[in-house]
Amino acid sequence: MKQPYERPLIRKLNGGPLNKFGPRAGVQPVTAIDGVPLRELSQRFGSPLFVLSERQLRRSYQAAVRAFSTRYPQVQFAWSYKTNYLNAVCRVFHQEGSWAEVVSGFELEKALANGVPGQQILFNGPGKSRADLLRAAEVDAVIHLDHADELHLLLDLADGLPQRPRVAIRINLDAGIYPQWDRFGFNYESGQAWQALERIVAAGRLELVGLHCHIGTFVLQPAAYGAAATKLAGLAQRVRRELQVQVQYLDLGGGFPSTNTLKGAYLPGPDTVPPLDDYAEAISEALLGAGFRPDELPLLILEAGRALVDEAGYLLGSVLATKRLADGRRATILDFGVNLLFTSFWYDHLISPTREYSAQTENTVLYGPLCMNIDVVRESISLPLLSPGDQLLVHKVGAYNMSQWQQFITLRPNIVLIDERGEVHIVRHAETLEYLQQLEQVPAHLTVNS
Ligand SMILES: *Cc1c(COP(=O)(O)O)cnc(C)c1O
Repeated sequence: MKQPYERPLIRKLNGGPLNKFGPRAGVQPVTAIDGVPLRELSQRFGSPLFVLSERQLRRSYQAAVRAFSTRYPQVQFAWSYKTNYLNAVCRVFHQEGSWAEVVSGFELEKALANGVPGQQILFNGPGKSRADLLRAAEVDAVIHLDHADELHLLLDLADGLPQRPRVAIRINLDAGIYPQWDRFGFNYESGQAWQALERIVAAGRLELVGLHCHIGTFVLQPAAYGAAATKLAGLAQRVRRELQVQVQYLDLGGGFPSTNTLKGAYLPGPDTVPPLDDYAEAISEALLGAGFRPDELPLLILEAGRALVDEAGYLLGSVLATKRLADGRRATILDFGVNLLFTSFWYDHLISPTREYSAQTENTVLYGPLCMNIDVVRESISLPLLSPGDQLLVHKVGAYNMSQWQQFITLRPNIVLIDERGEVHIVRHAETLEYLQQLEQVPAHLTVNS
């Protein structure tokens, strides 16, 4: 008799407790952050709760500065606001000496309000309005031009301004990273970037101060930065030679990875992501070897985002329920979902239990509380047998989640910062219905029920 057709099924097998680097992380409980017990945090501030470690923010920043400044004489970091623009986070980095890198008028105002002088603000992005450009020129921020239309608009505006706006151009180039990010900036290989530079210098109404590129995000090949640095350096020298302008800085952008584990990666991030030193080495070697006179070496600017902040952020949440799916898999419903943990679309975050359990573990799918099929925090993870009310701690969530999160179905929770003395501060309050409805208006004819 002919057998009935069965649909093939591919199932991921988890290869036991070891990989070639040793025991698998994740089932070890984590009970405190910087000495503050997690139980206490959720009792005081609710669940879910974002927790930031000021100690880790400073440690990551200082390590990054050390990696670059021990290899290259002039280094300046500019904090990428969109990665996490909570004022408390920005101010930690500004206290450490960081400039600001912003990509919208809103972020520009935020940086100014955080006390960053205009001269220390780099204004990137493809969507600057006329008003944004005028504001940037007024406060003497550096405008990183993205395209020819923006250049023409700024040339127009510059006629009416008391001083020449300071500009750099963003350059996209082939650094061996594919698909190439060619939607931002002027292309290097086609000569588009050179044309823009000629135009800027010939017009005489703008002051060309730098060259910028940002080749991607979570870039795992340090050599790509070496290639980009070589191209920018060559271009700077050609500008000096042929246009008689000496640019003050080369900005290599951000895109350095954190030690998160990308989805589909075979091994955990901490074992496989190259250290920041490798990137610093590739960039410094390229710049020092590019043939600048020692007294004319440009300032090296870096706009590292996720590499500086991911590790300092945690999301502490709770189990709402557990259930069995039709195919027998265990499912766990959490009180946070992709609305708060946007990066669970790209990362397999390290997720720890927060107390000791028996040695028994089981694979479970982690769902958020949203009534939406996309709300999957993890397709499969090996965890102890959790019950409602048990807590889980998600690690390395400091980048993008607190700026790209969505107010969807639920209200966004408290965010706290643990300072270096172990004191806990609310740095953003949980949202309320009233706060959310502040901007709503109901037209008069809808205020009466029938
Ligand atoms: C987003 C962004 C950054 C920061 O990127 P990370 O990948 O978080 O390091 C830096 N520069 C520019 C222009 C950006 O758009």
